[in-house]
Amino acid sequence: MRPVVPFVSSASPDERQTWRAALPQALDGIAAVKPFEDLTEEERTAARVAIVANPDPANVAALPNLVWVQSLWAGVERLMSELPADGPQIVRLTDPQMAETMSEAVLAWTLYLHRAMPRYMAQQRQKIWQDHELKSPQERTVGVLGLGKLGAASALRMKANGFNVLGWSRSKKTIEGIVCRHGRDGLLEVLGQSDFIVLLMPLTDETRGLIGQDELSVCKKGASVINFARGPIIDTAALINALDNGPLDHAVLDVFDEEPLPPSSPLWDHDKVTVLPHITAPTGISTTSRIVADNIGRYFEDGTVPPAVDRERGY
Ligand code: NAP
Repeated sequence: MRPVVPFVSSASPDERQTWRAALPQALDGIAAVKPFEDLTEEERTAARVAIVANPDPANVAALPNLVWVQSLWAGVERLMSELPADGPQIVRLTDPQMAETMSEAVLAWTLYLHRAMPRYMAQQRQKIWQDHELKSPQERTVGVLGLGKLGAASALRMKANGFNVLGWSRSKKTIEGIVCRHGRDGLLEVLGQSDFIVLLMPLTDETRGLIGQDELSVCKKGASVINFARGPIIDTAALINALDNGPLDHAVLDVFDEEPLPPSSPLWDHDKVTVLPHITAPTGISTTSRIVADNIGRYFEDGTVPPAVDRERGY
């Protein structure tokens, strides 16, 4: 008999419905995917792996013999904070295509800033016909904070497009063509030298509020920030202050402290802010389902649990 894999989710009904249709199809022949609510007591006890998307932690706890959970999202900060440290291993979604998608987004929005699109759009609204000096990519520096799968791919793509690239990570790194820094001094150096600062790191205890007033104050005059990581990594009040009073020129934000961004947020109307609704690197339902099916299939075949989140490190 095929093993039963619980699907534990408190996402919106529409979203759950979509996954409930896609996952059983992808795992056909490997396992039977069953919503948590429909599990029998025996199935709860027997479950070794579950698929989770915004799960209620109490439901995960009600599966006492879980070895690991497969998240349907790339970011797992909520799971990390809500599941007990001695709970199941957490496997986040890693999609090889995502680095391609994300680096394309980094390129697109860096070029948006590099070619002064916000400025020309504002001029059009005021019917102003005026050109501004165009610098070459070689005269611009992109600082990429976070050199993991997404950050490294983005750094290399920026390099291939002619930009100088500085990178920053927790541990020391070597990436050909990229000047890599780490540590507090390294962060300040990257911030101080970059025209475009791209955030691509996970939200952890260490990175929450990492970019605040002190860090923004060392940025170059006229620098811009692109946050494609997680909202709380930047202190929003400090960001608005740096946009209003210098040194920052613009911020492209795809992620926020609260999502959807509440209508009352001053970011919506700020003329130096571009708001994106968390769209830079979405993972499609079919790709995700295939990755999840591969991971779970391998586990049932030979017991391999995919690389899990390091609880100590927080990512
Ligand atoms: P990853 O492979 O785990 O890489 C994370 C990088 O961040 C690593 O280079 C790591 O340093 C660095 N880092 C972690 N903590 C740090 C700290 N305290 N100080 C300095 N550097 C630190 O993650 P990834 O797959 O590239 O994804 C990065 C993040 O992108 C995700 O966590 C998620 O928040 C975000 N994301 C956003 C979207 C979107 O649509 N906006 C989509 C997918 C992902 P080491 O190399 O030294 O470990």
